[in-house]
Order: sequence, then C-alpha cells, then structure tokens
Amino acid sequence: MLEINNLQKSFQRKIALDDISLSVGKGAIYGLLGPNGAGKTTLIRIINQIIEADAGTIRFNGQLMTQSQLAQIGYLPEERGLYKNMQIEEQLIFLAQLRGLTKNEAQRNVTHWLTKFGIQDWRTKRVESLSKGMAQKVQFIAALVHDPQLLVLDEPLSGFDPVNVELILTEMKELKASGKTIILSTHNMQSVDEICDRASLIHEAKKLAEDTVWNLREQHNQGEYVVRFKGNMIGFVNALWTDFELLGHEEIGDNRFMAKLKMRGTSQMNDLINALVGKVELELIEKKLPSMQEVFIDIIRGKEEVHA
Ligand code: ATP
Repeated sequence: MLEINNLQKSFQRKIALDDISLSVGKGAIYGLLGPNGAGKTTLIRIINQIIEADAGTIRFNGQLMTQSQLAQIGYLPEERGLYKNMQIEEQLIFLAQLRGLTKNEAQRNVTHWLTKFGIQDWRTKRVESLSKGMAQKVQFIAALVHDPQLLVLDEPLSGFDPVNVELILTEMKELKASGKTIILSTHNMQSVDEICDRASLIHEAKKLAEDTVWNLREQHNQGEYVVRFKGNMIGFVNALWTDFELLGHEEIGDNRFMAKLKMRGTSQMNDLINALVGKVELELIEKKLPSMQEVFIDIIRGKEEVHA
C-alpha cells in the first residue's frame, strides 16, 4: 500500500532521515519504532505532506503521492491539533468534511464513532473542558472519521490509562480486520508485541532493522526454553547432558517441575525433545522469545557498542 524509497531529510545541518526505505503492505499494522529523536515524526510528517523530503519517493497504491491521496489517509499527529473552543461533534464533522465527506456522511460517521466509544454525551462539550485522555480519544476519532484506507498514528497511546490503551488496541485490531492499514509510531513496546505484524527500527536517522515482529523476536532469541514435566529432577538434569544449561527450576507439586534452560552450541528444540523423551513425562516445551522491548534494547545497545 505504501512504498517509501530512499527518503532523505535534513533540518539545517541535522540529518533527520538518511536513505530510509520501507514498505507497508495493505491490511498490516506496521510499527515505526526508534529512540527519541530517531526521525519517526519527520517520516510521518513527510507521508502526510506537512513537510517535504529533500530526496526520495513515496508511492501510495502504486502512485506517487500527491495531495489528492490525503483524503485516503487518517493522521493522528504527535502534537495534538484540536480546536479548543469548538464543540466536539461540530469539530469532528468539520474535520471529516475537510477530508472530503459530505455533511450528511460526516454526521453519520461522527455519530457512529461517538456511540461506539460511548461518549455521545460529550457531543456539545468543548475540547478545553476535556482531560488529556478524553481529548486524545476525540483526536483518535478525528483520524478515522472520514473512513481512510491508511491510518498514520503518531504515539496514539500516550496519555491514556490502561483501560483506554486496551480500548484503542482493540479498535486498531478491528480496523485491521476490516481491511485498513495502520502505521503505528510508538514507544509502547507491549502494544507492538500485541498488535503489530511488521516493524522497523529507526535510530539516528537510519533504518537499523525491518521485518515481521516474529522474525525480529526470533533473530534476537537467546536460546532459552521453558520445560514443564512430571518425573525426577536428577533424571531430567542427567538427560540434558552437556547440550543444555539448566538456568533454574521450581517444583510445582505432585512431582512436577518447571525448568528454564539455555541451549549450548547449535542444539535445537528437537534435540531437547529427543534428550527428554522416555526420561521424564513432558507436559510443555516452549521456546522463550524476547519481547519487542528486549529486541529494541538489544539492537540499540549493539549499535552503541559498535560506536564505542
Ligand atoms: P520522538 O520519539 O522523541 O518523538 P522522533 O523519532 O519522532 O522522536 P523526530 O521528531 O523525527 O524524532 O526528530 C528527528 C531529528 O530531527 C531530531 O534530531 C530533531 O531535533 C530534528 N528535527 C525535527 N524537526 C525539526 C525541525 N522542524 N527543525 C529542526 N530540527 C528538527
């Protein structure tokens, strides 16, 4: 749906984006990750034509991006942009009309979203009377009220309490299920684990990694496994031989144990299973993949060590 090729952007002498290319498939939730100042918002502003790139191209459904495609994009900016004195319903209708809807279509969609979020009674409130989280909800509706194909959300979870974070994540999953594409810039790594299909990590203007979330987690796995079994701990340790290191264990009752292992060398899960079958009664073997938070830290630390 969105093909970004060799984008370059500098502010005076500061390089904000350095040869960034990435590809966002239709119907995906794509995580845009990176430390503070990495270049994420700059990239998002270029996609939304708030600022221009110095070089590079963006294609939307195969066509070079122009102003006319903006109606197909819903944008939640990092700096929130609601009119403080306008009533909420009036404001959402106005924003939907700006993105090409008729007054009737806008009214219908606004009613739909206010009802879906259970906030119909905010209709006549002014933004200045809302809390940060309440205003954030209105801003989220503003991004999708014109029913765009692509949603570009810059830190949509910041300012929300845990219940509202869950509400927004559920909403994003539903939007994906209905065929929408979402670019999600966030520091909330748990949300990346939970809803992103693919992610890229930008650091100091450069793309350091891009892959499916599962592949990124797999590439950074530390060879750790959790095993639950019934039997004898000594028999279990003897069966491991030298291929696996026992990191810890606990008895969970009725001769059953949970053990944490780290593999040595090139051993795989099949080797672990072969070593244990017949020695203990296996109940569960799970490869422990790192969370996206751990992947993020691993990549950034690795980069910093190279610099040091
Ligand atoms: P954060 O996670 O903190 O929001 P970010 O990844 O969104 O960071 P950007 O806002 O894109 O980062 O900033 C990238 C770099 O470009 C930073 O060094 C920033 O200071 C610089 N920058 C961004 N906008 C401007 C501007 N208008 N003028 C000058 N420098 C800018």
